[in-house]
Amino acid sequence: GFKMGIVGLPNVGKSTLFNALTKTAAAQAANFPFCTIEPNVGDVAVPDARLDKLAAIAGSKQIIPTRMTFVDIAGLVKGASKGEGLGNQFLANIRECDAIAHVLRCFEDDDITHVEGRVDPVEDAATIETELMLADLESIEKRLANLMRKVKGGDKDAVQQVRLLEAAQAALEQGKPARTVAVDADDAKAWRLLQLLTIKPVLYVCNVEENSAGSGNSQSARVAEMAAAEGNSSVVISARIEEEISQLDAEEATMFLDEMGLEEPGLDRLIRAGYALLHLQTYFTVGPKEARAWTIKAGTSAPQAAGVIHGDFERGFIRAETIAYDDFVGLGGEQPAKEAGKMRAEGKTYTVKDGDVLHFLFNT
Ligand code: GDP
Repeated sequence: GFKMGIVGLPNVGKSTLFNALTKTAAAQAANFPFCTIEPNVGDVAVPDARLDKLAAIAGSKQIIPTRMTFVDIAGLVKGASKGEGLGNQFLANIRECDAIAHVLRCFEDDDITHVEGRVDPVEDAATIETELMLADLESIEKRLANLMRKVKGGDKDAVQQVRLLEAAQAALEQGKPARTVAVDADDAKAWRLLQLLTIKPVLYVCNVEENSAGSGNSQSARVAEMAAAEGNSSVVISARIEEEISQLDAEEATMFLDEMGLEEPGLDRLIRAGYALLHLQTYFTVGPKEARAWTIKAGTSAPQAAGVIHGDFERGFIRAETIAYDDFVGLGGEQPAKEAGKMRAEGKTYTVKDGDVLHFLFNT
């Protein structure tokens, strides 16, 4: 599955958000830096109204949403790359994530200590990014030293890695994150495998006070501008509100959202934004037993999509009976869609589209 690492300075609302996301008290929020020491991992159902619709039409007994993993990564402070705070341990946790959800304090509250003694999310973002850049520089230096030996031995992969690491190093030495390096398509895979921290896409999560949860505030507006300039994205959320919603049942939550003048929980937007940032899509398998959502990267072929369910489906792939979501819902289910000629038999080269309802045929 896909993993988002939640990072941010102490006391910005990471644990509150993580708790709301996972509805557990596992990551206790407290007005105390370094309160969450162990990395907390939570699997979160990806909200998708389409899945409920499909299940209703097909009369599916069970609804199984697709999931996304969130990791609450504590201990990122100024000087972290030099071993301040929790030191290097958390950097390894970030390395394993596909993207970073960077929580920024955009709320004023004199009762909640800010580590820098002021609210400035743009400056906070720079503080964290600097730590990540320093960590990248350090790991690049170490790796280059090792790779040079392999290059002398004529290792072609090592030559490519050295070239890419040096390009990243040059950018970082100018104070630019590695994601600013333009990489050829031929190098894209090797580049990803370097697992540099500053090539990971960033979703800035602006934690605002309750009454700004809808439209944000002046601080979150500054963050949105910064995100756009960097090619990253941002969402506005009130961790406090999400915490409250997470304790309500569905009906109460709807009423609460109405009262607050909000259309949907901020977490739904956050997960969707994470999805978009990672270029993820959803396809569905729908039957009387279950309706289920599956996550793929945009551009995934039908056999690869089948492989998300089971390796055998990919190896023995014959074809995918495919109905577009709109056809399935508009025509009222699989049989009517089939009768209307809207069920297509797609082969190995088919690129799965977001919302496709698929049925795989395969050799065992
Ligand atoms: P972390 O250190 O980033 O994990 O931060 P926490 O989630 O533990 O939050 C630190 C403190 O800030 C807690 O007392 C939270 O209740 C409080 N807090 C979190 N979000 C908000 C918010 O949106 N508004 C206000 N006023 N306080 C918040």
